[in-house]
Amino acid sequence: MSNDTTRLFGLNGVAVVGVEVADDDIPMLALVTCDEQARCCPGCGVRSERPHSWVCTRPRDLPVAGRRTGLAWTKRRWRCLNQQCRRMTFTESLPGIPPRSRLTSRLRTSIGEAVANGRRTVVQSARDHEVSWPVANAAFTTAAQAALPKDTPPVTHLGIDETRRGKAKFRLVEGPDGGEVWEVVADRWHVGLVDLSGGAGLLGQVEGHTAASVSSWIDKQSALWRAGVQVVAIDMCTVFKAAVRDSLPHARLVVDRFHVAQLANAAVTEVRRRVTVQHRGRRGRKGNREWELPNRLTRSAARMHADHLDPMVADLKALPKQIGEPILAAWNCKEDLMDLLALHGTNPDRTTICRLLTAFYESAAASGLPELERLATTVSTWWPQILAAITTGVTNAASEGINRAIKTDARCAYGYRNPVNQRRRARCATTRRARGHPATRTSGRHAQPRKPSI
Ligand SMILES: [Zn+2]
Repeated sequence: MSNDTTRLFGLNGVAVVGVEVADDDIPMLALVTCDEQARCCPGCGVRSERPHSWVCTRPRDLPVAGRRTGLAWTKRRWRCLNQQCRRMTFTESLPGIPPRSRLTSRLRTSIGEAVANGRRTVVQSARDHEVSWPVANAAFTTAAQAALPKDTPPVTHLGIDETRRGKAKFRLVEGPDGGEVWEVVADRWHVGLVDLSGGAGLLGQVEGHTAASVSSWIDKQSALWRAGVQVVAIDMCTVFKAAVRDSLPHARLVVDRFHVAQLANAAVTEVRRRVTVQHRGRRGRKGNREWELPNRLTRSAARMHADHLDPMVADLKALPKQIGEPILAAWNCKEDLMDLLALHGTNPDRTTICRLLTAFYESAAASGLPELERLATTVSTWWPQILAAITTGVTNAASEGINRAIKTDARCAYGYRNPVNQRRRARCATTRRARGHPATRTSGRHAQPRKPSI
């Protein structure tokens, strides 16, 4: 039973025997079964010969040619004549329209893939397909399970980084001295594990910012996967360090250089604020040159134009001595550290590294500023890992990029109540390219789809 309408409709196992357009302009398609397999009992698989009755179901389907379309499938209920089978009767069902399902399989797949691969939110996919949120979310869960790899892809360079889940919540409680103090009620974190070298994106996330939770994720992976990890990149966080030491003792630990530079800039800002308050008796304001310079002070001198660099140093020297001198000393010390970090990935020799490290320690010691002393102590504590970053050239930048995608996804969803849903959505959003979906380009030469050449 094949006709043009059936071929156009294209749902395997049913034939279109009539189309009626109702008053509300919705075409109603009358369907009949044309698949012999539908007559086989789902309990025992034996083909039935004795009909029981007629049934009509109205499954929902994708729009046809952009128009919402109704289906009326007239199908049979059959008796199962197999003596061993416990099933008395059954209705016809097809892979495209499963039993008891009010949606066709292709509609359910479309709803799920719009979220898993098309970056729609569950709410928007539900609206587009005119179904409820739970139906859309269930369809997405099924699509995600099918799309995501069953086993964690092998990686050589692993990145670990945390993202905050929602906002921290506080409440006022009675303090030990009778006063009121703020207590953290909820501060929820996700720790993401990222493939830095193979492009597989986010491998997984664990709830809670603890060494135990990170270790438990790593320990769940196969021994082969763990043995394959050579380098682990982290920020300066003792929690991750402990987890890696426990679960991947053979891997080389690397501290991302961005976080070291960030600490150095924070130290310069602290010095600037402290000396301003100490010597002016108030915060900086317009007209105080040191207050107007923060962006230039925290920029690397190597990336600054001489037209900006020389006047900045001159401005600092022109300030009152108690303010200008410590800021200039902190800035010089920060620049010494930046010179050291600039060796990153250039395959430097030990002598150069030692010379620049010594220069940094000496300038930190010579400045006599507590902020720089603390910075030097931190660098000294993490030196083996910073050195590993400089010599291997590995950064955790990919983790930071993944975090941006996770946060964008959370904003589009207006936050998540259910962390399991959030992890599933984050995993889909950050592995699209690895799963063969083209990257979203919003700028550059190929921002618009290219016209096919004729
Ligand atoms: Zn049967």
